Amino acid sequence: MYQSLGPRGDSPISIIGAGIAGAWNALLLAQAGHPVTVHERSDTAMRQSTSHWAGGMLAPWCEAETSEPVISRLGIRSLDLWRRHFPETPMNGSLVVAHARDRSDFERFARRTTGHRRLDARALGELEPSLEGRFRDGLFYADEGHVEPRRVLPQLHARIAAAGSTIQFNSEAKADDLEGTVIDCRGRAARDTQPSLRGVKGEMIVVETDEVELSRPVRLIHPRWPLYVIPRGDGRFMLGATSIEAQDSGVSVRSALELLGAAYAVHPAFAEARIVEFGSGLRPAFPDNLPRIAIDKEKIAVNGLYRHGFLLAPALAELVLGYVERGVIDNEVMQCA
Ligand SMILES: Cc1cc2nc3c(=O)[nH]c(=O)nc-3n(C[C@H](O)[C@H](O)[C@H](O)COP(=O)(O)OP(=O)(O)OC[C@H]3O[C@@H](n4cnc5c(N)ncnc54)[C@H](O)[C@@H]3O)c2cc1C
Repeated sequence: MYQSLGPRGDSPISIIGAGIAGAWNALLLAQAGHPVTVHERSDTAMRQSTSHWAGGMLAPWCEAETSEPVISRLGIRSLDLWRRHFPETPMNGSLVVAHARDRSDFERFARRTTGHRRLDARALGELEPSLEGRFRDGLFYADEGHVEPRRVLPQLHARIAAAGSTIQFNSEAKADDLEGTVIDCRGRAARDTQPSLRGVKGEMIVVETDEVELSRPVRLIHPRWPLYVIPRGDGRFMLGATSIEAQDSGVSVRSALELLGAAYAVHPAFAEARIVEFGSGLRPAFPDNLPRIAIDKEKIAVNGLYRHGFLLAPALAELVLGYVERGVIDNEVMQCA
């Protein structure tokens, strides 16, 4: 146990960054009665944040295929927090499918993950009629969910304001200029104080078609990346996401071909879909690809959310709240100077 920073409402708390990490920290602290000010250098459109480009899948069981157990532990806790704070969040599961040539990778995915049940072709078609006759079988992760980042971020920002706190957009801040407790949620921009942070580029495409209807994310097993199609409503679908060690933004022709190919493989009607947007974001990652809450007296840095920002942000914010109010430390995620 470390000493807590003081009772609620005692001293001001500043949060730098209103991406998914900063927004959840602000929400839980504000709702617990702390006076919070959030500084965000972007305008309300949040195009400078990685969170703007994300898929928003809340998939702790699927992610266990390539992640450490701590991701599932925090992710499952986050699902509860999403449910409690945003009861309208679609929690209708996710599907994993594969083509015949990727059969062995599909079976490996099934072996390395839990929380799924196998659906035969008929059951798959009943769950997602657009996929009828397309795949021999699939894995259904019934308890997973997904959010639409560009809808949920403004909702989080509105809730923070409703809880009596302030968000200042177009406000570039430096931790040293701020008084009281400072929570640094700058994502990849925090490399000045956390030099081991790197960006892992994720490219995405949004397409539009009336010919396909999906109710949940569909992952297509792929030898290099987990490619997926996420329904966004109003006939729009996000196709994601590559994972490339690169610092530039932009989308390469090769990646676009792979993402569009994956969509076409899920349903040939995607060939006639209209392309609405190409984009990419740099996921903030430490060398071990695990999240970290670094504590140095009144400075707390929440970073390294990598490909799990939406999955982990609520649970990480809950840990920060526990530290601020009661001095509780989670040894797996928190490091004290
Ligand atoms: C294509 C793609 C798909 C993804 N899909 C998923 C997914 O399905 N599920 C999932 O859980 N995760 C997903 N991710 C990962 C997720 O997007 C990231 O983990 C998450 O966005 C990181 O959030 P963050 O708040 O740490 O950083 P950011 O979202 O980058 O937020 C940091 C904020 O700090 C602001 N800032 C920086 N410096 C300053 C300063 N000095 N003053 C004020 N403000 C500052 C920035 O403008 C930014 O808004 C995906 C990522 C990509 C790129």
